[in-house]
Amino acid sequence: MAKTGGLGDVAGALPKALKKLNIDARVFMPFYGLVDKSKYKVKKVASAAVFIREKSEAFGIWQTELPNSSVKVYLIKHRLFNGKEIYVSGRIMKGKKYTRAKNDVERFSFFTQSALEACKALDFQPDVVHAQDWHTALAADMIKTRNLSDNFFIKTKVLYTIHNLANQGISDPQIIRYAKISPDFPVIKADAENGDINFMVQGILMSDLVNTVSPRYAVEILYHYQGAGLDNILRKRKKDLYGILNGIDTDFFNPKNDKYIKYQYGREDVFKKKNNKVALQKELGLTQDENINLVGFVSRLVWQKGSELITEDMIENLNCQFVFLGTGQKEYEDYLKRLAKKYPKKISANIFFDAALAQKIYAASDIFLVPSRFEPCGLTQMIAMRYGSVPVVRATGGLDDTVDGSVGFKFKKYSSAVLEKILAKALDVYYYDQEHWLKLQKNGMKKDFSWDKSARDYLRLYQKLVARKY
Ligand code: ADP
Repeated sequence: MAKTGGLGDVAGALPKALKKLNIDARVFMPFYGLVDKSKYKVKKVASAAVFIREKSEAFGIWQTELPNSSVKVYLIKHRLFNGKEIYVSGRIMKGKKYTRAKNDVERFSFFTQSALEACKALDFQPDVVHAQDWHTALAADMIKTRNLSDNFFIKTKVLYTIHNLANQGISDPQIIRYAKISPDFPVIKADAENGDINFMVQGILMSDLVNTVSPRYAVEILYHYQGAGLDNILRKRKKDLYGILNGIDTDFFNPKNDKYIKYQYGREDVFKKKNNKVALQKELGLTQDENINLVGFVSRLVWQKGSELITEDMIENLNCQFVFLGTGQKEYEDYLKRLAKKYPKKISANIFFDAALAQKIYAASDIFLVPSRFEPCGLTQMIAMRYGSVPVVRATGGLDDTVDGSVGFKFKKYSSAVLEKILAKALDVYYYDQEHWLKLQKNGMKKDFSWDKSARDYLRLYQKLVARKY
C-alpha cells in the first residue's frame, strides 16, 4: 500500500498471518497521498481530534482491508500525510512556505497520538499495541503517561519492534510538549538531559517487551560494534529482548504464479529460470547468454548495504554479469551508474524503485548478492531463495540466521577481496558442479519463510504480555 523497504513488507504480512491464528490484529497507518484509492476500497468510518500546540487538530479515520484478507486497516487522514512522499524531512520546498509539520519526528508523533485516539473513537481496546521502529516508538510513552488520567489503555501492553537501529528518530525536546507526554517520567527526563529526545530509546526503555527482527541481530546489538550507540540502553532490557525472524509473503513471492515474470516455474522446473535470464538480459541490454552467471542485487543504496564492495577488479576478474536495482545516497547511485557505463554489456544499473523489475531480477538471477555491513533481518535473501537464486551474503544479523552452506555462501570479513573470493567460489560451483548447484537452489526453494512461523512466535510474546500483571 505504501512502502519503501522491509518495514512495509512486515506491516502488510504479519497481520494476515496473525488473523489465521484468530488474532484480531488491526493495522493503523497514515493515509499517505500515494495510497492508490482506485486500487483499495476505502471508506470513512469516524473522525477524531488531538490537541497539538494547544489547538485541536481534527483527523479522519478511514478504513480498508489488507489485500486478500479481512484484516482491517485504519488510515489516519490529515494534511500532514497528503503528499506523495512517506518521509519529508530534509526536503526543501522551493519558493513555498513549508506549512506542514517541520519534520518527520513531528509527523509520526502526530500519527502515533492519532492512532491511539482513533482506538478510542472506534471503541477498540487493544490488549497489545505493537509499535514499529522509531516512527511509533512514543506509543509506550503516550500510553503510560496517559494512564494516569485516562483508563482506556489501562490494560494495554506495548511490544516494541526494532527493525533497524540505524534510524532512531532524534528530536528536539520540544516534542515532549508536542506529543503530550509527561516530562516528569524519569526515562523521558533523562533522555532530554543531553538536549534531544531519541524515539528509539523511549521505545526500548518504556515498552513492556522489545524485539528485533532476527535472533542474531538481537545478540549483535548488545555490543558496541553493532549497537549504533544504543548498546548500553539495550543491555538494560536484555532479559526482555527477543529476536523473531521476519517472514516473507509467500503468496506474493511465488515463482509459480508471479505475474511480473515471463516464464513461471517451481522447484521441479527451476531450469526455466534461464528463459527469464535471457529475457532480462535483452530488456536491460546485456549480452544475451543463458549460460553466463547473472548476479542480482536489489537494495536501498546506503552505507549499510555494502554496494561499494563491488570493485572494477572484481568485474574484470569474474565471469558473470551484474544487475543492480536500487535507490539511495547519490554517491552509491553514481558509483553503480559509472560501473554500468564502463561495462555496458556486463553490468546494468537501474537507479529507481520498481517492484516489477525486482521480481524479474529474483527470477532471472543465478546468484543473489547481499554484502551488508549489518542486516537486522533482510528480506531479499529469503525472496531470492524462494526464486532459486543462490544467496551470497555477509554473515551478519538475519543473513547469518537464514543462509548456511546447504543453500548458499557466506563471508565474514567486510572486504572486497573476501567478497571476490567467495563469489569466485560460488561461480566455480555454478560452472563446474551443476549437481551441487541444483541442490543449493532446491534446498533454498524448500525453505519455509512464510509468516506463519514468525506469527506463532509473535503470538507467544503477545500472550506473555497479556499474562503480565504489574
Ligand atoms: P531494508 O528494509 O533494509 O530496505 P530488506 O531486505 O528488509 O531491506 O527489504 C527490502 C525490500 O525492498 C525488498 O522487498 C526489496 O525487494 C525491496 N526493494 C528495495 N529496493 C528496491 C527497488 N529499488 N525497487 C524495488 N524493490 C526494492
